[in-house]
Amino acid sequence: MKLVLASNNARKLRELDAILAPLGWELVAQGELGVPEADEPHCTFVENALAKARHASRLSGLPALADDSGLCVDALGGAPGVQSARYAGEPRSDARNNRKLLDELGSTANRKARFVAVIVFVGHADDPQPLIAEGEWTGEICSEPRGEDGFGYDPVFYLRDLDRTAAELDAADKNRRSHRGQALARLVERLQTRR
Ligand code: IMP
Repeated sequence: MKLVLASNNARKLRELDAILAPLGWELVAQGELGVPEADEPHCTFVENALAKARHASRLSGLPALADDSGLCVDALGGAPGVQSARYAGEPRSDARNNRKLLDELGSTANRKARFVAVIVFVGHADDPQPLIAEGEWTGEICSEPRGEDGFGYDPVFYLRDLDRTAAELDAADKNRRSHRGQALARLVERLQTRR
């Protein structure tokens, strides 16, 4: 079954595809179908994910999958949250976002943070019963970026039990633990029971 992914983030596509391809889902990035990015005007992950999924489905005529995700830092009241991708402004830059985050936190002792992902599936643009799944991944913000893998805030997201940042995990290991991996596993389970 063909599904449009409401994102053009190649790394996200790869992470999701690794999980969905073995289940027989063919994931196509919306850009390949000429679908422009949707606005993300809402203040919650779930509303933004739903808006993106409906937009991609409406313009492609295919069932759609959308993910809205971000990093929520306790000492910053949950920021950067839904603004994670654009935390340091346009043009989007992971390096500038990470720098801004470290500057905002300074030497704050409470470094607790979590990645949050909400994944939404709509069978069609006006689907009245979208499937919605959420995942969380708890860690801490370290004082300097570390590691070369991953994307976004991975180099500053430190996992004390592993003594590694998310950017020091290989893709399979990250998928098993991550917010997105957990949300997707829940979504797949719900998709299979709905069919
Ligand atoms: P979205 O495309 O609107 O969901 O933006 C999510 C943003 O949150 C990304 O651009 C990253 O900055 C951040 N983010 C989400 N998931 C991850 C992850 O797994 N690792 C690192 N950063 C992430």
